Amino acid sequence: MVTEIKKLKNEELLQRTKFLVVKERKITLQILHHLQEISRRRLFAERGYSSLFKYATQELGYSDASAIRRLQAMELLTELPEVEDKIKEGALSLSVVAQAQRTFQIEAKLSQAFDPDEKKNILQSLEYKSSKAAERELIQHSSQPALILKPDLIKPVTSTHSEIRFVADQVLLDQLELIRGFLGNKNPNLSLSELITEMARISLEKLRPKAPKELVKQNSDDGVEKSVKAVNSMQAAQATTKVPQKTSQVSQAFHLPLNKQVPISKQAPLSKQQSNSEQASSRSRFIPIEVKRKVYQRDEGKCQYVDPVTGRKCLSTHAIQYGHIIPFAMNGPNTVENIRIECRVHNRLLAIQTYPKKMAAYLKLE
Ligand SMILES: [Zn+2]
Repeated sequence: MVTEIKKLKNEELLQRTKFLVVKERKITLQILHHLQEISRRRLFAERGYSSLFKYATQELGYSDASAIRRLQAMELLTELPEVEDKIKEGALSLSVVAQAQRTFQIEAKLSQAFDPDEKKNILQSLEYKSSKAAERELIQHSSQPALILKPDLIKPVTSTHSEIRFVADQVLLDQLELIRGFLGNKNPNLSLSELITEMARISLEKLRPKAPKELVKQNSDDGVEKSVKAVNSMQAAQATTKVPQKTSQVSQAFHLPLNKQVPISKQAPLSKQQSNSEQASSRSRFIPIEVKRKVYQRDEGKCQYVDPVTGRKCLSTHAIQYGHIIPFAMNGPNTVENIRIECRVHNRLLAIQTYPKKMAAYLKLE
């Protein structure tokens, strides 16, 4: 290959390079369309990934930055299909399209989202511009130029340490100083990284989903009451993700009337320790707390979805829920054997696979 290239005449070499660049753009667009379709079919989830980004980096081997550029361009292409021609003819590069989409997303969060016409006008002003020139142009349209100029960055410094960069506003700086003061008694003179490490520890202690505690019956302290409330709110979240209460049609698929449910005697044998209240709750879709505790410990709080094709297990800890292996509406019991931890993406994927029509109507899928 290299020898062949070395034999090319100058003019041939220049022309062939141009030809390859045009081809590269076409392939890039094809990849964006394929990613779009993978996203629409939720194939990344089927293959055991909890997000398209994870699929793009871990399965396709893109760097974080390359994956983000492609996903951002893909999003903008979905919203404004005319951008495709601009990429094809080389008027807009992938990185400029991604930069524009990032600006649009930041503005939508900060103040008012641009409408499609405004976006088209801005994109027009970016045509045939380098990344640097496009950045200068985008700053003109931004209410917080600092966020455009200095995007968040995690850069490895050594094999164990990375540099984290982000732009903070005065409100955050003031809050950090306040927290430094609050922590000052125990930890005087905290450096910025020590301060954030301590904040991360406190947040994790507070936010990390805990294994449901023992049954209220077996504990009398107030903490248990709290944990029951937490679990109930998790159940509520689970119900909302699968089926909002308002969409009664779909809701019924997951929540059969009591008289249609499996009698306790036909379910997996109940353990002797189970209380009367547990027996009562096993007739509803709510999973007994003792079952949840055992499931959480067994699954270590990680999503247990396994791709049937590759055997890849998701293991995500993001927005975890308790899911039925044999669906509740198909008489799947609320037993340790039939309940497992699932992330939000896989909980929803399984609902779509089990009830394609109802979920399609609910999610307004094509
Ligand atoms: Zn998952």
